[in-house]
Amino acid sequence: MLRPIIAESDIKAVRDLLEESERIVITCHMAPDGDAVGSSLGLSHTLANIGKEARIVTPDRIPETLRFLPGAKDIVPYSKYTDFATKLLEDADLIFCLDFNALYRVDRMSDALSCASAKKILVDHHESPQDFTDVVISHPDQSSTSALIFRLLCRLELFNMIDRKAAACIYTGMMTDTGNFSYNSNDPDLYTIIAELVRKGINKDDIYKRVMNTKKANVLKLNGYAVSRMEIFEEHKAALLVLSADDLKNFNYERGDTEGLVNEPLAIEDVIYSVFLREDDRHIKVSTRSKGDFPVNRICERYFNGGGHVNAAGGELPCSLDEAIDIFKSTLTFMDEYLKEKNQR
Ligand code: 5GP
Ligand code: MN
Repeated sequence: MLRPIIAESDIKAVRDLLEESERIVITCHMAPDGDAVGSSLGLSHTLANIGKEARIVTPDRIPETLRFLPGAKDIVPYSKYTDFATKLLEDADLIFCLDFNALYRVDRMSDALSCASAKKILVDHHESPQDFTDVVISHPDQSSTSALIFRLLCRLELFNMIDRKAAACIYTGMMTDTGNFSYNSNDPDLYTIIAELVRKGINKDDIYKRVMNTKKANVLKLNGYAVSRMEIFEEHKAALLVLSADDLKNFNYERGDTEGLVNEPLAIEDVIYSVFLREDDRHIKVSTRSKGDFPVNRICERYFNGGGHVNAAGGELPCSLDEAIDIFKSTLTFMDEYLKEKNQR
């Protein structure tokens, strides 16, 4: 049995809104990852099974590695089909906002989303949600929105409506947001959920292979190149990875190709946190990961215009790559104060 964590009043609110809604849209954050796409598809498949068709609108395209998920081809990326996506949002009477906590996380779609007159339900696991939805189901202690969607569906008495397709999508989100259950994964309830998903007939080994083991040669080379130039700051227990726009071009980079790269330095025993700077057309994208209770979200909030979770956070810098590297170096001393915590001894 799962411990109930979602408030009964929120369950009732979702149930009532679902009952009175006919045009449902599900949306998630920009650069959607396994959890954003997995939770969206898991919810849409289950709603379809109770006769409620829901369209998924993502701010931009989903990565290649997630296209195998059932229903992925029906997702509408706002960046490509802006008019159609805007119409879906405008016409909706209910919008689920999954795996993000603030309007700016949907990037250029934020106006269309905030102007939509539909009732909105947030289901998310990021800290400090902004006030832009009618119902807020926010549980930062949960390691993925997908696990939270499973809990929500169970509480709505829809467990039996979660079919194999929905289960595969929910599992994918749980797996990707915990690095295949290697961080944020000590909650025993996670394994209760996984057992139920496996009983629904998913092939978890196959999902792992499809999501994690489908890299192209140029992608492995790009990641290897970045690691070969990694800088370690021993006294600060930090590692830095950097890829310039030219590096990306040389290896025919496509979005998603550096997924997971920022985790690599954590394999080194004495590295407690890792920062990856990637030069984009618009800005420098920052991605950070850490071990134990070292809070990388604090660096991202304070220095990198972002946020996230204790062990996985990110942000963006509107400057040159060299300036971003300098900013990172200036954070090192500030971050030392967190090294004194118990986990770093
Ligand atoms: P990733 O490193 O995989 O891009 O992001 C890891 C986590 O950091 C995300 O799940 C999200 O919580 C957070 N994150 C990444 N980029 C940003 C950003 O630009 N702003 C904020 N607030 N959070 C971010
Ligand atoms: Mn997530």
